[in-house]
Amino acid sequence: MFSKVLIANRGEIALRVLRACKELGIATVAVHSTADTDAMHVRLADESVCIGPPQASESYLNIPSIVAACEITGADAVHPGYGFLSENARFAEILAAHNIVFIGPTAEQIRVMGDKIEAKRAAEALGLPVVPGSKGAVRDELELKRVAAEVGYPVLIKASAGGGGRGMTVAHSEAEVVQAASRARAEAKAAFGNDEVYLERYLKTPRHIEIQVLGDGKGDAVAIGERDCSLQRRHQKVWEEARSPALNDEERERIYAVCANAMKGMSYRGAGTIEFLYDEGEFFFIEMNTRLQVEHPVTEMITGIDLVHAQLRVAAGGGLGVRQEDIRFQGHAIECRINAEHPETFMPSPGTITHYHPPGGLGVRVDSAAYQGYRIPSHYDSMIGKLIVHGNTRAECLMRLRRSLDEFVVDGVHSTLPLFRRLIHHPDIAAGAYDIHWLENFLATKEAA
Ligand code: ADP
Repeated sequence: MFSKVLIANRGEIALRVLRACKELGIATVAVHSTADTDAMHVRLADESVCIGPPQASESYLNIPSIVAACEITGADAVHPGYGFLSENARFAEILAAHNIVFIGPTAEQIRVMGDKIEAKRAAEALGLPVVPGSKGAVRDELELKRVAAEVGYPVLIKASAGGGGRGMTVAHSEAEVVQAASRARAEAKAAFGNDEVYLERYLKTPRHIEIQVLGDGKGDAVAIGERDCSLQRRHQKVWEEARSPALNDEERERIYAVCANAMKGMSYRGAGTIEFLYDEGEFFFIEMNTRLQVEHPVTEMITGIDLVHAQLRVAAGGGLGVRQEDIRFQGHAIECRINAEHPETFMPSPGTITHYHPPGGLGVRVDSAAYQGYRIPSHYDSMIGKLIVHGNTRAECLMRLRRSLDEFVVDGVHSTLPLFRRLIHHPDIAAGAYDIHWLENFLATKEAA
């Protein structure tokens, strides 16, 4: 196992990784910007290094500073968390060149899954079901119209360099498709400097269901259940649960086997998530994230598997530590992302938390780096923390979530807590009857106010 791990991140995820390291007796190094001098991850780490000014590009994304911090402290591995450098293949390569272990997949695996067209091609070759569409990029109007007619309208035009839902345009008919493609190209060019686009069938009311995977990098892999992340606003996940209220056991077994086999096929190393849209009983691959996800705790709560321990073990060459047949699912878990945002306008609300009281009790977990008197900087994402609740059944989980939301106090800044307090009373949420558009529709109606 490693003797010292540098955590190249901040906020709740830095703390999450730090906790796992402490449990395994691994010394920790925190890195931080000048805006995060008082941050909890800095206080709790064994050592800390200031790596630059507040702007992420100069600190948490500053590869030379982070490598220097490894050299100064003698860290033998880096955990990248999520976001920042976690899916940067170049970073993985640079660490390797300095004999520092990147806790994650190979640079090549990151690269393939980071390009949407490449990823879709690789997924198909590995036996994952994909959305019907163009084979790679569409070159011209003729091809665009031909492929669109083949897959059937409505179609979605997507940027191959896409991310965060940008550069995606729907076309409902041949009359719209050429204009939609040029709009997608222009948006992609502006956002990513690359105007390559591809086309696929637009699924009207799918759910977002993703599979947690873990590979040992030597050809063995397991699928650790699914998460349902259909409740989204502007393609950002708001509420996640495990397991999905929409699947039956036969569908689960089938998709777990397909995903585990795909990961075995590519000798995937580390933790990853394969994201699908699920529509009328069918799964369609949309992307793979080659890192730990924000919503990983719901999987941990129902399996008892510590995914960060697993990442550390695999990165140190210690194997998966679990066999597919030993993975058991107990009860139900839901995560709410509590952001420092206005609950109706979603405007970011940085500032000082004047009073903070997280809920507790059986089955309640709060992953947060916030504390009373903490000043949320305006430079990074607006997450205050994640409330994760477990129950023996979904009904018990919802009951416990309702009580936990009532108990949670965050004063001094706006938070999205009131949104969740409204959601939890909605009959569709109680029934688990929602698709990827449900939350946007809810927010557009008076019910949400
Ligand atoms: P990005 O990388 O930009 O986030 P994704 O491919 O992950 O793009 O898709 C983001 C979201 O867009 C999905 O969660 C889903 O809501 C929607 N989406 C993507 N592909 C389709 C499709 N073929 N049909 C319908 N909705 C889609």
